[in-house]
Amino acid sequence: MTTNRRILNFIDGRCVEGRGRWFEDINPADGEVVAEVSEATAADVDAAVSAAKRALAGPWGKLGVEERAALLHKVADGIMARLDDFVAAEMADTGKPLMPTRMGEIPRAAGQFRVFAEIGRVTPMEMFESAMPDGRRALNLVHRVPRGVVAAICPWNLPFMLLTWKVAPALICGNTVVVKPSEETPATAALLGEVMTAAGIPEGVYNVVHGFGPDSAGEFLTTHEGVDAITFTGETKTGEAIMRAAAVGTRGVSLELGGKNAGIVFADCDFAAAVAGETKAAFHNCGQICLGNERLYVERPIFERFVEALAEAARGLRMGDPMDKATQIGPLISRQHREKVLGYMEQARAAGAEVHAGGGIPALGDPFDRGAWIEPTLWTGMAEDAAAVREEIFGPCVHVAPFDDEDEVRALVNDSPYGLTATLWTRDLDRVHRLAPALEVGVVWVNDWMVRDLRTGFGGAKGSGIGREGGVHSLHFYSETRNVCIRT
Ligand code: NAD
Repeated sequence: MTTNRRILNFIDGRCVEGRGRWFEDINPADGEVVAEVSEATAADVDAAVSAAKRALAGPWGKLGVEERAALLHKVADGIMARLDDFVAAEMADTGKPLMPTRMGEIPRAAGQFRVFAEIGRVTPMEMFESAMPDGRRALNLVHRVPRGVVAAICPWNLPFMLLTWKVAPALICGNTVVVKPSEETPATAALLGEVMTAAGIPEGVYNVVHGFGPDSAGEFLTTHEGVDAITFTGETKTGEAIMRAAAVGTRGVSLELGGKNAGIVFADCDFAAAVAGETKAAFHNCGQICLGNERLYVERPIFERFVEALAEAARGLRMGDPMDKATQIGPLISRQHREKVLGYMEQARAAGAEVHAGGGIPALGDPFDRGAWIEPTLWTGMAEDAAAVREEIFGPCVHVAPFDDEDEVRALVNDSPYGLTATLWTRDLDRVHRLAPALEVGVVWVNDWMVRDLRTGFGGAKGSGIGREGGVHSLHFYSETRNVCIRT
């Protein structure tokens, strides 16, 4: 199918056709082309960065935090007033099922504008009275000032949620932004431009450039010398390239990167809760979630029972029409990504994996057989150095292995180049206090998975990222302190 829908760049408050080519936006549920997207060239990116620079010196730069907070609340209202449009756009880009998109991701994205508006509003200015040995006295005021133009480079797995996670705190701190959404998921970023305008956000404060990474809008933006700070969520390899770009001009960089997260299930756990939680952790969003668990370690006495229960849960997950309220799992983001995941399935078999659930492409009938669907898959029996156990697959695949004691499982979990999250299932509180702080990750969940309070600092250890965002941690990244010391 061809489409008349066109997605344009959003620069200086206007929808702008880029000078690059047009590329297709494909719905991975059925392979339909849902829109043609206008790629931004280096000149278009320059126009966006220049508009963002000008906006800093315009009315936006003169607003106080209370006024910016009021505008952010209006943006949240505007998103919720157009909930149906945002849900439809996100579903068309990703194939995500209706319920988690409508009840979870889009309202959560709107809510981020409210949360960061309030965090920005109530965070007090620091003030210190100083007394020097020679009798001089002074008052130190620590102002928070915006960094300037922030480039936000976003991934495709939770497109709108991860975009607003960056844009909302950047704006409450008084920055202006240029966003580069993933080439796979341009639609909600474009829609947000309309909401920003309707809410009264001045021209040039929020800009969107579309395109790819290397030699396209992503690289043009991160290497642009007018950008003052870069926030990136995506693959670790891309993060390294972006960090190199940020080194030129010694600009601030925040990196939320990949993971190979582990779940740890002790025999004393609430068995049903652990099975339900690990089913979500492995298969939610078709496994395309940085916080997902692709490795699972289960204490030997319950290993076989746990594998059976998890395999049964995996087989019971409902795939199919994303509009059907009963659908739980959507497709992968693209056929190309499916090829990558299928490659890991082949490697797993070659590495001796026993397949307990899934392992291939489901037959869903027309039109979904034209999409990028894949079965929730559970393996056992691989060595720890097998590629499917060590590398991030970013699909609905989990490998389950037995363990015998705490020291062994701690070593297994920590033996990874990544360190984003871990999930612990046990009723033994002493064990929680011993083990949780010893795991080399940014977040440890105990007896649940993916409870994310936006006030807590979020980010990864090792190859999973640099810096923390969330709550005041976001304010620390999106602003700088300026110490004014006044003799009294
Ligand atoms: P990706 O790194 O391929 O792409 C992310 C973004 O970077 C896209 O917009 C892409 O166009 C752009 N990009 C690619 N190369 C670039 C370059 N050289 N310069 C500038 N921009 C460039 O990641 P993805 O495939 O979109 O997302 C999946 C990855 O994201 C997984 O590894 C996942 O773990 C990670 N992720 C991490 C978190 C987290 O919070 N830690 C959250 C979500 C996703």
